[in-house]
Amino acid sequence: MKPFIYADHAATTAVKPQVFEAMLPYFSKQYGNPSSIHAAGRAAKRAMETAREQCANALSATVREIYFTGGGTEADNLAILGMEQTLRAKSKTHVITSAIEHHAVLHPMEELRRRGFSVTVLPVDENGCCAPETVARALRPETGLVSIMAANNEIGTIEPFAAIGALCREHGVLFHTDAVQAFGQVPIDVQKDCIDLLSVSGHKLGGPKGVGFLYAREGIRPTPLLLGGGQERNLRPGTEAVASLVGLGAAAKLAVETLSTRTETVARLRDRLIAGARQALPDVRLNGSADHRLCGNANFAIPGVQGESLLLLLDLQGICASAGSACTTGQVEASHVLRAIGLSEPLAQGSIRFSLGEDNTEEEVDTIVRVLTEQVQKLRAMCGYV
Ligand SMILES: *Cc1c(COP(=O)(O)O)cnc(C)c1O
Repeated sequence: MKPFIYADHAATTAVKPQVFEAMLPYFSKQYGNPSSIHAAGRAAKRAMETAREQCANALSATVREIYFTGGGTEADNLAILGMEQTLRAKSKTHVITSAIEHHAVLHPMEELRRRGFSVTVLPVDENGCCAPETVARALRPETGLVSIMAANNEIGTIEPFAAIGALCREHGVLFHTDAVQAFGQVPIDVQKDCIDLLSVSGHKLGGPKGVGFLYAREGIRPTPLLLGGGQERNLRPGTEAVASLVGLGAAAKLAVETLSTRTETVARLRDRLIAGARQALPDVRLNGSADHRLCGNANFAIPGVQGESLLLLLDLQGICASAGSACTTGQVEASHVLRAIGLSEPLAQGSIRFSLGEDNTEEEVDTIVRVLTEQVQKLRAMCGYV
């Protein structure tokens, strides 16, 4: 028996056994610094460059276009704040993003606004989709960058990123996509999809935490956010986390190789969960798109419950999920994503996200449905909901 049922893969994933194996030698045997010119350093450098090749291949990019970072957040910051000088030099002081981006995109966008940029935050439809036509209408002569995520972390909606990429390319506007959730779940080809900048995080795809990469198309040079040594071709100083990067490369390779079979398996589990929950609790509503949806995501709005309370009760029953609200400053605040798709405050606060992975089983899904139903009924009885 596992100690708990883990249904929070959008928050983080376990390091895959093969990935863990690949990382091990780089802690205490091959511990060289990739910048050292001796044999130990060269071995570390080789391992790191293999990882870079694995990341590049996963996206149809070249190794010169992959810059390792300390995770998805840093890659997003580089793609947005790192482009400030380039955009300013071309008088492109208008940027566009969507209302459902991760805070790793929204907060750098707010910072650009404080620094004098004009920032358009596009609305999304009730499925969480940011239509290319909406992007097209927001373009101005001075628009320099569009940042729209490839798939949303909360509601699982897969955005029409290739169409947005093509539109941006046509108008000579840079296109960044936060692909932290989409990478390894949705095929991505930076050439065909017209992507100029793209962010990936290791720990969302079976790799270690604290590493990721930014893909920046050849010829696009963000300005470094940190100052120090010349690592990552002067974009990201600091001694590289070699073992973690080896893990990132192995995880990226594995994720892309197994993409089609794995996503099919996980989608079956997700659909079982959605069908089961709907049957047991007929008034639950699925947040996000029914068709353009990440294979593991099931996000429910459940009338008459508090998502946070439900989360705690599920946790007591050994189920790890995530709520659509966060108790930040002592009071419960609904997520900006759920508000952006038009959910009422009570429904947004009554939302819960299950995100499945390939290690989940049908039995676990059935347990989730059973426990969810019991706990929802319990909460509803407590507050007199009929
Ligand atoms: C997790 C996540 C991030 C942040 O990645 P970290 O590696 O945890 O910094 C950014 N964007 C999205 C969509 C995410 O899900």
